[in-house]
Amino acid sequence: MRLSHRLEKLPPYLFVEINRKIAEKRARGEDVISFAIGDPDMPTPDYIIDRLCTAAREPSNHRYPETSGLPELCLAIARWYRKRFNVELDASKEVLPLIGSKEGIGHISFCFIDSGDVALVPDPGYPVYSMSTLLAGGEPHYMPLREENGFLPDFAAMPAAVIKKAKLLWLNYPNNPTGATAETSFFVEAVRFAKKHNLAICHDAPYTEVAYDGYKPPSFMEVPGARDVGIEFHSLSKTYNMTGWRIGMAVGNAQMIDALFRLKSNLDSGIPQAIQIAAIEALNGPRNFTERQSAIYQQRRDKLLKALSEIGLKANPPKASFYVWVRVPPGYTSVQFATELLDKANVAVTPGVGYGNAGEGYVRLSLTLPDERLDDGIRRLLLWHKSATK
Ligand SMILES: *Cc1c(COP(=O)(O)O)cnc(C)c1O
Repeated sequence: MRLSHRLEKLPPYLFVEINRKIAEKRARGEDVISFAIGDPDMPTPDYIIDRLCTAAREPSNHRYPETSGLPELCLAIARWYRKRFNVELDASKEVLPLIGSKEGIGHISFCFIDSGDVALVPDPGYPVYSMSTLLAGGEPHYMPLREENGFLPDFAAMPAAVIKKAKLLWLNYPNNPTGATAETSFFVEAVRFAKKHNLAICHDAPYTEVAYDGYKPPSFMEVPGARDVGIEFHSLSKTYNMTGWRIGMAVGNAQMIDALFRLKSNLDSGIPQAIQIAAIEALNGPRNFTERQSAIYQQRRDKLLKALSEIGLKANPPKASFYVWVRVPPGYTSVQFATELLDKANVAVTPGVGYGNAGEGYVRLSLTLPDERLDDGIRRLLLWHKSATK
């Protein structure tokens, strides 16, 4: 058999070697503590699971759902955006539930990108933006996110020839993997840039509810003109510890929402209805759940930052997201440093280069491991440092 060129063109997965090492160690019975996984360790709250269970028993939820999602879910999403961001959305035209936001992020490229078209993609960044561009036959153009610019892209530095071929602009704040945040002034600038060059904006925002010290990250949809040029992807995954249930949403520009709906209606048959009903329960539920959750991550963040500074590693303290983006010590590449920590301390971290070339020189540590594992991991890092500097 012969696979498609589009599949064969995908670059190899960068973490193959490190993951093989972790698997080998674990097979030998060694205990590897992983700071490498961005998936909440805490369970979905009971009030959501209880509703899911009753909904699963209702026969009306056993049949095909609609691709457009339950109208009640679209309304709950619109209500949540009004309560949280003071953004008004037309639930019938400006909201589309997704099978997790990754699904929509992957599919939207097929609505915009033809062969040879360019998508502007953050580097470092969540890999799906560039992979879906490649699968659709387009070319990602990487916008470096540099520490001196607060990990925001520099629109003025973008080559005119690239901008001419570009159709999509990807943004993601609070950012994975850097933990950086953006203010509405940056989104205003992005809207101006998109209008000037006839670009569509996709803002990926799954981390707005994981935030520290009382900070409330803004939505892209808050700024004037946002819905003329763009949509925002959001998700229940990180907000309600629901990564395993697969539910998210796109909101904003009605034409983009309709395009994504038309594509999806030919590929999937919607989200299992019991999960949609659980999502309504989550969105209508108490806001203090996410605040309590963030307080737990905040304690972990502070413990980890303290330890990193004790061992002389320079970290960027995140105001939001559950990631800490750390400079590797001089003399190491990100892969070499991750390998050193794995070999010598049995601690797994993610090499920054896995998120793009501009991620070289950093590793990402996630806060999604139970407190006692985090404490153990920190102890191992401190011990490693002591023996490394002997
Ligand atoms: C976790 C994550 C997603 C995907 O979330 P799902 O809704 O679970 O598909 C999207 N973008 C970024 C940056 C993420 O970190």
